[in-house]
Amino acid sequence: MNPNTPYPVSAQLYADATQVITGGVDSPSRSYHPVGLSHPVFAARAAGAYIWDEDGHQYIDYVAAFGPLILGHAHPAVVAAINAQAAWGTVYGVPTRWETELAASIRQAIPSMEKMRFTGTGTEAVMSAIRLARAYTGRRYIVKFEGSYHGHYDGVLVDAGSGAATVGVSGASGVLPDLARFTLNMPYNDLEKLAAAVDKVRDDLAAILVEPIAGNMGIVPPAPGFLAGLVAIAHQAGALVIFDEVITGFRVCYGGAQNVLGITPDLTCLGKIVGGGLPIGVYGGPTRIMDMVAPVGPVYQDGTFAGNPLAVRAGLATLNELRQPGVYERLDALAERLSTGLQEIAARYGQAVTINRWGSMFTLFFTPGPVRNYAEASSASRTQFAAMFRGLLKRGVLLAPSIYEAWMVSAAHSENDIEKTLDAADAVFRELPKSPA
Ligand SMILES: *Cc1c(COP(=O)(O)O)cnc(C)c1O
Repeated sequence: MNPNTPYPVSAQLYADATQVITGGVDSPSRSYHPVGLSHPVFAARAAGAYIWDEDGHQYIDYVAAFGPLILGHAHPAVVAAINAQAAWGTVYGVPTRWETELAASIRQAIPSMEKMRFTGTGTEAVMSAIRLARAYTGRRYIVKFEGSYHGHYDGVLVDAGSGAATVGVSGASGVLPDLARFTLNMPYNDLEKLAAAVDKVRDDLAAILVEPIAGNMGIVPPAPGFLAGLVAIAHQAGALVIFDEVITGFRVCYGGAQNVLGITPDLTCLGKIVGGGLPIGVYGGPTRIMDMVAPVGPVYQDGTFAGNPLAVRAGLATLNELRQPGVYERLDALAERLSTGLQEIAARYGQAVTINRWGSMFTLFFTPGPVRNYAEASSASRTQFAAMFRGLLKRGVLLAPSIYEAWMVSAAHSENDIEKTLDAADAVFRELPKSPA
């Protein structure tokens, strides 16, 4: 063990991991190399708003496992649901009442998901929705947006923001060019370019796939009129609109971004929060489209763990907590306090930052802004971010190690946690190198 690091146990665990796990991490998004550290901290346990690492440090957690943990870690109601189900069996190979119950709850919150199917992950939900859109329209092309992440499925990896962009790969290696050429990447929030791209493939466009509030180039809200225009362009071309609400679903309100934005897609994908911290994905839409999925129709989607009872019951317990009055108002107030506090601190120390916030999630970009698309997000300083990340880590505040991720506030955070985070941020910004001119 190296006694010169404050994380000797994590350092050793990482060294051990790299012997048997490529890169020592099962997801590139967890690598700390982009923030100039040789290894990540290893989690030992977590409760509520806190994670403890294997070296015994406590962190106020704003990663929320990249989105699912809107109630924080190990919420008692979620743990109880998981324990109850585990004792009765973890997977059956026949349906359970819980799948119907969760589907009904989701439909009540997001009425456009008239019928749906559960999958094992968000990746599978998007992959299945694309397959369904192609089958339904009999067309081949998909339009998506630069810097949007839709899972690690071949057809959506090109310019996929988030993890791939952070570790500096295009995401296209190993993806057949013959397949990738059916995915067009357009800049987010640019209707003119979108219309031009759609014109080129008009009769062969199956769907426009979009995060209604972008979350994987950092948080980037849709410009006024962008989504309405997008829906009009898709429908004029005879194509479907797929909202990837894997992050936004039950994060921005009890429902989807479509509820707060007043825009209805044809198909919706969910994941993360609706699994209550266990793996899940969901895709759904009108019966006339969803009935194309086997065994009713010809489009195949399957999964040993699709609708897994542990995930479904953890999701039900989570939605039940989220239905309590005032949850989203409180999340919003906490995130507002934190983000305006950070903005003030940055101003005090002469750092040019732009904070894009939607409800309980926000991204602090080290750029004067504005940040309306992936190119603008990418102009944010990586070195300033890395310095902030390391400073906050040292002071017990855990962020995702990427300029393209968000701070996620959870219902487990207290006002005191927010104030402590701001105190830590004040100390960190005081020491940050000056913004490059
Ligand atoms: C996380 C995410 C996915 C992929 O979900 P997994 O469960 O990690 O496969 C898809 N789309 C968006 C918008 C996401 O944030």
